[in-house]
Amino acid sequence: MDITWSGPEGSSHTTLYLCVPFFIGEHMNEKYMQMAFDEAKLAYQEDEVPIGCVIVKDDVILAKAHNKKEQNKLSLAHAEILAIKQACEKINEKYLIDCDLYVTLEPCMMCMGAIVQSRIKNVYYATSDPKGGCANSVIQIANVTNLNHYPKVYQGMMEEESKNLLKSFFKAKRIK
Ligand SMILES: [Zn+2]
Repeated sequence: MDITWSGPEGSSHTTLYLCVPFFIGEHMNEKYMQMAFDEAKLAYQEDEVPIGCVIVKDDVILAKAHNKKEQNKLSLAHAEILAIKQACEKINEKYLIDCDLYVTLEPCMMCMGAIVQSRIKNVYYATSDPKGGCANSVIQIANVTNLNHYPKVYQGMMEEESKNLLKSFFKAKRIK
């Protein structure tokens, strides 16, 4: 079955979806992943590992952030953590109930913990992190028992673009 949707610039794409059923999220919206990807490109320009994140509620953007580990000299300054903090400040709440988080790389253990703590409803990530991802790779969040909150996790939007951005960043680093 083909599903057609409108891309960020009104362009039309057709993709086979049925081969990746977990791809289809409740409120999945590619334009938000595009924004997260734009944040990742900003990180790249700032010589940071290119990862970007956007938090949305009811089609309102609460936060846009990118990785700032180097410039903040802080190992906690991942895109998701910065975005969660920004979103909480924006709505003046400690929990992000019914919020969706879009991120270009599978969240790490710290960020997945923060996602659980902040009660984010849906997590959409672009590309997997086999070495550190704690949504489906190193840890499968759905299989962790006794958590007080489980976000729904979806993967696949803008996977190639996000993966290639990371690859080209690390390739350029190696050449330097
Ligand atoms: Zn992280």
